[in-house]
Amino acid sequence: MRDADLAPRTIVDPAELAQVLAEARAAGERIGFAPTMGALHEGHLRLVDALRAPPRDASAAPATTLVASVFVNPTQFGPNEDLARYPRDLEGDRRKLGSRGVHIVFAPTPELMYPPGEATRVRVAQLTEHLCGPFRPGHFEGVTTVVAKFFGIVGPCLASFGRKDYQQLAVLRRMVKDLHFPVQMLGVPTCREADGLAMSSRNAYLTASDRARAVGIPRAISQALRAHAAGERRAGTLRRALAASVAAAMDSVDYAEVADADTLRPYADDEAVPERALFVVAARIGGTRLIDNAVSTEDSPATPAVA
Ligand code: AMP
Repeated sequence: MRDADLAPRTIVDPAELAQVLAEARAAGERIGFAPTMGALHEGHLRLVDALRAPPRDASAAPATTLVASVFVNPTQFGPNEDLARYPRDLEGDRRKLGSRGVHIVFAPTPELMYPPGEATRVRVAQLTEHLCGPFRPGHFEGVTTVVAKFFGIVGPCLASFGRKDYQQLAVLRRMVKDLHFPVQMLGVPTCREADGLAMSSRNAYLTASDRARAVGIPRAISQALRAHAAGERRAGTLRRALAASVAAAMDSVDYAEVADADTLRPYADDEAVPERALFVVAARIGGTRLIDNAVSTEDSPATPAVA
């Protein structure tokens, strides 16, 4: 498609989007798709960049029609979570997406995505049993269901997701394999603020003093990565040090784990952690839940921003 010219077309109706994209595919366009819940920051925009210029190691051809969705998906929020107050700014989001070359913004309503009588859910087992799974019952089922719907509507060749939500990416990759979706999945590195805090729409909830404490999460992960790189392999020692430094900064810790980077199973205290491992945290400041992670062999502990 021609350059979006800073004014992406906004489509609300799933049937209309499916029709427009069927025509684009028939004309030889390669559809790239980045799903978001809006209130966009630079991390979201990197998902768009990755569609236009996939990293060489992904060996994917660039997408030529770029689609981003902005949809606060109600089924992935628990009853006591922040669905009602989740930040929303569709006009700002459209501008930002246009500035990065997005052609179409898909902004459906909950009623269009979940019309009366709808009765289908997609659930991935095992990977959802660890980490965020027990703390957010139903969350991943909401995510896989809405992404499966999106893939049905959009029919992307290429879709990009952030590694900040590492478990979500792993669960979605499993779904894509198991349901034979013909889509290539790109995992995009976590985009951070200058001090190392992972960008998140939820950072907007933080007061200035909470914001200053939140950097304790990436610092704790960095320390753990360094200890691991220096040769510490005892899972219990690594996990306890990670949990203690997260707890020192945050009001409460959902989990701070060292886990298998593929199965997401946390290592038991008496296990030896291999060279490639996932260091992953979910913790709360005030009413705000923050998550972050790094994989030892893929995310450098030497990143100065996270020092
Ligand atoms: P959300 O709007 O929070 O549902 O996120 C939409 C997509 O953006 C997901 O694939 C996230 O993993 C990704 N994302 C969110 N924050 C970041 C970040 N700081 N760096 C990279 N990707 C991110």
